[in-house]
Amino acid sequence: MRMATSRDYYDVLGVPRGAPDDEIKRAFRKLAQQWHPDVNKDPSAPERFKEINEAYQVLSDPQQRRAYDMFGRAGVGNGGPEGYGPFGGFGDLFDAFFGAGAGGAQARRARPPAGSDLRYDLRISFEESIRGTEKEIEFSALDRCPTCSGTGAEPGSTSTRCPQCNGLGEIRQVRSTMLGQMVNVTVCPRCHGEGSVVETSCQECHGEGRVQRRRKLRVEIPAGIDEGHQVRLTGEGEAGPRGGPAGNLYVAVHVEEHPALRRDGTELYYDLPLSITQASLGARVTVPTAEGDEAIEVKSGTQPGAEIRLRGRGVPHLRRPGVRGDLHVRVDVRVPTRLSKRQRELLEALAAESGERPTKPGRILDRVKDAIS
Ligand SMILES: [Zn+2]
Ligand SMILES: [Zn+2]
Repeated sequence: MRMATSRDYYDVLGVPRGAPDDEIKRAFRKLAQQWHPDVNKDPSAPERFKEINEAYQVLSDPQQRRAYDMFGRAGVGNGGPEGYGPFGGFGDLFDAFFGAGAGGAQARRARPPAGSDLRYDLRISFEESIRGTEKEIEFSALDRCPTCSGTGAEPGSTSTRCPQCNGLGEIRQVRSTMLGQMVNVTVCPRCHGEGSVVETSCQECHGEGRVQRRRKLRVEIPAGIDEGHQVRLTGEGEAGPRGGPAGNLYVAVHVEEHPALRRDGTELYYDLPLSITQASLGARVTVPTAEGDEAIEVKSGTQPGAEIRLRGRGVPHLRRPGVRGDLHVRVDVRVPTRLSKRQRELLEALAAESGERPTKPGRILDRVKDAIS
């Protein structure tokens, strides 16, 4: 059984109620180091450490912290006798208060639910993914009704207390059973748990508070973004009904492939084809980069598989400004498959000069034949 600690989470961390997030984080780090059971041999250390962790888990999460500030431990599902109070725990509380769709037997007067999150698929070029870009996107979505500003009430008309539930947002039914009185609580069907209804519904949105509209948005795409990354635009999703909070818009980014460059994280790779003579004598060649073609020098005597690294010419790091990967140019020496008569003569002369005695492939074949027969 879990030992329920009853100390206030702010007291546990030794911070004031309005403490900013970084102060809470600092206090937690300090206490966690001090009370870690591996370090602190005090018999109460494990329990203290657990308590510190629990407090930090709640206070470092904005939603949980808000719930804790409003309702204490009952709000975050810790402590208190099981099943006591209006909420069975965390989930119910949020269903009821933060609009994750009011429902369940324990729902209370609810805020209008939030709008849905939306996804927009955006295609950008390889070059744009490297340098970052700004795009205008256009899409159709449920937006706050401009006529009633999302209230759902016809202008001039007001919202009044729901007559069915008397503004409570819930309907209670009391039954007598063997075990005593049982209270069954359901969401008011008339006001959806919101406690109020509009006198006259807005004509444009029929009381929904939102209408389908085309929207244009500018989206900032950061340099270094990769295929499959998403850019979140908070509150740019679908509007909630009757003034409920809007969902988020997720822009899913798709990056076109480069014809010659391959990307892996912040690194770019290019296979540079070189002829035997270029690799032997050295050459000035052109390589593609994210910024266009660039001339580089290949030293004489460059080996197959050698790598020429262009530092800082890779992909910018998404979260570390100013940090950029490299472009790795890998040498791929190509041996000619077809030789002109003159080329053959020159290569044979080269072989002779190097003291090699080339054996003609035909002769090998003859010898194999001799061996078989
Ligand atoms: Zn309206
Ligand atoms: Zn009602």
